Amino acid sequence: MRQQYSSYEECVTFFKNAQKTNPNLFKVESIGKTWEERDIIGVTISKNVTSHLEKPALLYTGTIHAREWIGIELSLSFAKYILEHIDYEPILNDILDKSTLYMVPCANPDGFEFSRNHFSFWRKNRRKNLDGSYGVDLNRNFEVGFTKNNNMSSNVYSGIEPFSEPETAALRDFALSHKNITIALDYHSQGNVFFQPIILSTKMQRMLLI
Ligand SMILES: [Zn+2]
Repeated sequence: MRQQYSSYEECVTFFKNAQKTNPNLFKVESIGKTWEERDIIGVTISKNVTSHLEKPALLYTGTIHAREWIGIELSLSFAKYILEHIDYEPILNDILDKSTLYMVPCANPDGFEFSRNHFSFWRKNRRKNLDGSYGVDLNRNFEVGFTKNNNMSSNVYSGIEPFSEPETAALRDFALSHKNITIALDYHSQGNVFFQPIILSTKMQRMLLI
């Protein structure tokens, strides 16, 4: 089953090829580097892609939890669908004329590769912690709802401070430099639930984090 999922490298190659064959529709850039020096890629999809900032945008992020592999696959499926239908579907054309899709297919490349190659149930990134353990739960490393947790080997260790990790800092900087983002969709693969982007009390946020 493992072979049916793309590696991070295959994913990057796919998007770079999409940019090569459709330079007016796809743009691929590195938005940061992980602890293991992998580029975190950000993909921009829009017609006349150079005008992407002028249109309202959706930001899709996948696989922030290393073991939730489907996030990457979905981003690849969306992109393949666009490539195969852009010449034939008026609605798709209209959407990408008027709006922009940003994707960070894998928000945790180091953790994802560790999960693929060593321990499939790995969840965190691959920061080397002070106690010799590895990883910060990136989903706990944002400012909203940040809770200090000193148990570094915990699966939900939140890091020394918000945005201490290159992966979350990259997402923050990308969002801040793209003011046209109106919706953000972070895709996980556990829970079978949809969390609405509403303002919640900190207690509620903690209850809802998975
Ligand atoms: Zn998750």
